[in-house]
Amino acid sequence: MTAEATLTVEDLKAWYGQARALFGVDLTVRPGQIVGVLGHNGAGKTTLLRSIAGVHRSRSGTVRLGETDLRAKSADAIARAGLSLVREGARVFDSMTVTQNLALGRQLARRRGTEPPALETVLDVFPALRDRLGVKGALLSGGQRQMLSLARALLSRPSVLLLDEPSAGLAPVVAKEVFDAVRTLAGDGVALLLTEQNPHWLRGLADTVYLLESGKVARSGVMEEVVGG
Ligand code: ATP
Repeated sequence: MTAEATLTVEDLKAWYGQARALFGVDLTVRPGQIVGVLGHNGAGKTTLLRSIAGVHRSRSGTVRLGETDLRAKSADAIARAGLSLVREGARVFDSMTVTQNLALGRQLARRRGTEPPALETVLDVFPALRDRLGVKGALLSGGQRQMLSLARALLSRPSVLLLDEPSAGLAPVVAKEVFDAVRTLAGDGVALLLTEQNPHWLRGLADTVYLLESGKVARSGVMEEVVGG
């Protein structure tokens, strides 16, 4: 479903003015892999994803998608190259219907020169959206908003999907549905990098986990090595 490519991040540093927020992060996400980034409030998880996606510009280091160097590109060009960021809190357009929100993802795929997947295929991954297509974003539940932002990203046919705390604010049963969808996407060859504060959701999901502390990778490896069994 996607053009497969490995995301490579080397020595990524980021700043807010004079204050350093990332101190040289290295990580790799291969097609079909689910990589988790764990860390407390303020550890730098959001900054990491925003720096990779080019939304946060005050940064240095290497960010590559396959052989393509992304670091000098604009956020828009990075999105067109195949990397989608789903921000914390599931941004959807409140005044637009679910169908209209999804159309934005399709447009991005076309701007990238690829044909978006069929809407039906995406609705199979997110069945909760199927009977909400005519409903305005403002009227969706938190879980439906999260599904919609993921579905929109999927319609843009990304090779790499970055998800910032996808479980934030969701009831456990809804969060589980979101993570089931994440697993399906990985099965389709999408490379997934997601942040979480709570290791619970990454157990049995993430192939590799990075523990971020004060902007540095304190530990990385399989879940049991990083946070204990
Ligand atoms: P959370 O779980 O709360 O989202 P996080 O792990 O995503 O936390 P970041 O939001 O990336 O952490 O923050 C990393 C560091 O950068 C923190 O010290 C934070 O105070 C600082 N920071 C984040 N955003 C800004 C900003 N807009 N201006 C200045 N400092 C910032």
